Amino acid sequence: MKIRYFDNAATTAVRKEVLEEMIPYFEMNFGNASAIYSVGREAKRGLDKARSRVANAINCRPSEIYFTSCGSESDNLAIKGVAYANRNKGKHIITSKIEHHAVLNSCKTLQRQGFEVTYLNVDQNGIVDMQQLINSIRDDTILITIMFANNEIGTIEPIEHIGQIAKSKGIIFHTDAVQAIGNVKIDVKKMNIDLLSMSGHKFYAPKGVGALYARDGIQFEKIQDGGHQEKDKRAGTENIASIVGMGKAIELIYNDYDSYNLKLKTLRDYYFTQIEKNVKNIKINGDRINRLPGNASISFKGIDAQNLLFKLDEIGICASAGSACSTGDVSPSHVLTSIGLDKEMASGTLRVSFGKSNSMEDVEFLVDNLQKIINRFAKKIKI
Ligand SMILES: *Cc1c(COP(=O)(O)O)cnc(C)c1O
Repeated sequence: MKIRYFDNAATTAVRKEVLEEMIPYFEMNFGNASAIYSVGREAKRGLDKARSRVANAINCRPSEIYFTSCGSESDNLAIKGVAYANRNKGKHIITSKIEHHAVLNSCKTLQRQGFEVTYLNVDQNGIVDMQQLINSIRDDTILITIMFANNEIGTIEPIEHIGQIAKSKGIIFHTDAVQAIGNVKIDVKKMNIDLLSMSGHKFYAPKGVGALYARDGIQFEKIQDGGHQEKDKRAGTENIASIVGMGKAIELIYNDYDSYNLKLKTLRDYYFTQIEKNVKNIKINGDRINRLPGNASISFKGIDAQNLLFKLDEIGICASAGSACSTGDVSPSHVLTSIGLDKEMASGTLRVSFGKSNSMEDVEFLVDNLQKIINRFAKKIKI
């Protein structure tokens, strides 16, 4: 059976060119980047090149990139690191209600340690309430952390505007850009972003490698003790091969940005149009303009998305109900609740996320089968 993969927001397949560039770092150049002999120096060269490539993609200096093990670690390091390093200046943090759990749970941990956190509301499209943001700022606010783009509904937040506000108030600004990297052009200088999290496996690099950008001069504490790697901010021998892969993947994706973006948008818009035309009682989630090119979140009234996923799996279609991180969790997603969906609509939500490997034929297959399954369901035949 042909597998049609529509869950690129959960993870992506490693690109062939990326894997090819990684292989020598398992074989000849396997050395420890801290060593002085040649095998170690080659590893160090690979590390440096990857750092430059990642820095280029977001317009920062290589010295402002810290490699980590994943997007979640980057979020933890940014949020807890800034909070601990700046606790003498204040204890208040501002975030939103629709962040990834790596951010929300980092904030919850800080609350247990005496920090105070404001969780901003979002409108029905998932855009953060900017007036509430401005009103929430206090003298002791040390950090604003707002995601660049949402993983469930695809909404892109007004990051440049938030950056301006943070800068004018002298507050550190972090953004979780794990979904945005590769899908949006990011310039951390122009957007006044102080810290930014990314993760390789969301843009065709391997799982288990991430990076944190932190502007030179931003104070943040390390959260893991050990050696002095990554300018003493992230202990542990660097995962050279995967870091090399991430550097290659980010360069490839931005070299080909326009055609990749257009491809995803074309597939997504065709999907939206076909579903809107052929299926009744649906709601497209997220902002219709400010959204990721490959994300399509649709709520189907009266449908149980978990059952729908099983039916789709039987014919080789991989998609997601809400967010992959909530799988097995029966309570409705915090993101879908925050944009005002009731329990029925939230539990009928299917997230389709397009990627490099998808073709128009795949989308036609998806639409045809989705229509069939849902119409059968609507006639009360149990699926
Ligand atoms: C996937 C994701 C993360 C977590 O990244 P990992 O590398 O899987 O830890 C964090 N934030 C967002 C928005 C994500 O989509």
